[in-house]
Amino acid sequence: MEPRMFDLSGMNALVTGASGGIGSAIARALASQGARVAVSGSNAEKLRIFRDELDEHTPQHLQQVDHVAIACDLSKGEEVEKLIPAALDTLGSLDVLVNNAGITRDNLAMRMKDEEWDAVIRINLEAAFRLMRAATKPMMKARFGRIITITSVVGATGNPGQMNYAAAKGGLTAMSKSLAQEIASRGITVNCVAPGFIRTAMTEVLGDDQKAALNARIPMGRMGEGEDIGAAVAYLASREAGYVTGQTLHVNGGMAMMS
Ligand code: NAP
Repeated sequence: MEPRMFDLSGMNALVTGASGGIGSAIARALASQGARVAVSGSNAEKLRIFRDELDEHTPQHLQQVDHVAIACDLSKGEEVEKLIPAALDTLGSLDVLVNNAGITRDNLAMRMKDEEWDAVIRINLEAAFRLMRAATKPMMKARFGRIITITSVVGATGNPGQMNYAAAKGGLTAMSKSLAQEIASRGITVNCVAPGFIRTAMTEVLGDDQKAALNARIPMGRMGEGEDIGAAVAYLASREAGYVTGQTLHVNGGMAMMS
């Protein structure tokens, strides 16, 4: 068989927030390129159902690949610390870590409660730090790794009502660039994918008027789909992306064009 570009067969990946709109599309994209995927989220039942669905996306010649589900509440530091060891235990190795899980607790600055700030920083930023720290050691030993974090266009542009969320996303970007410099020489790349507005449960809460106003700001005239993000992650996870590190790939229909 001709070698395919972006073939991930033989790679083991962990995806957080894999039961959500973007995370499930990322897991499907990685599985369809041949990776074995450990899907994680806080709701064990949702995860189990998704794990079973994932088999349908595995290429025919890799039907023996069994994907796994590992529940973990990322708001609890002690649970987060156990996630990478659990993934290593079940998968045997970890080639790709995708930090995708995230929440919003929007409020204008003057009204933002400490709990809203804390929850977003803990789940979106601190959990990703703990997972990156834990994944680094086995990846360094293997002299190969791909760490990919899902940030957001608002981490670069800011957004009213999202001081907490924008701070977390901007922090993830800076954190990834720092780690990228620490471990580049070991064959490990650390990158971000920054979605614009993507059709998922997170954006379903927006009213029709808000969606129309947003679409008017997007040159492509539509919201993105989870698959648009999944494809970007599959590329960054691939062997072909081995010379790309410390970067952010913006996937936003042209809504914000970063230099
Ligand atoms: P979503 O559909 O709401 O999914 C969120 C995921 O995060 C779910 O799988 C959820 O799993 C998980 N999660 C939430 N709290 C958790 C916790 N305490 N512990 C473990 N997992 C938890 O959101 P999405 O739109 O797919 O967003 C995915 C990522 O993309 C986020 O980082 C988000 O900030 C980013 N993003 C989204 C957009 C967009 O337009 N949708 C734009 C830019 C960036 P459980 O339900 O099992 O807890």
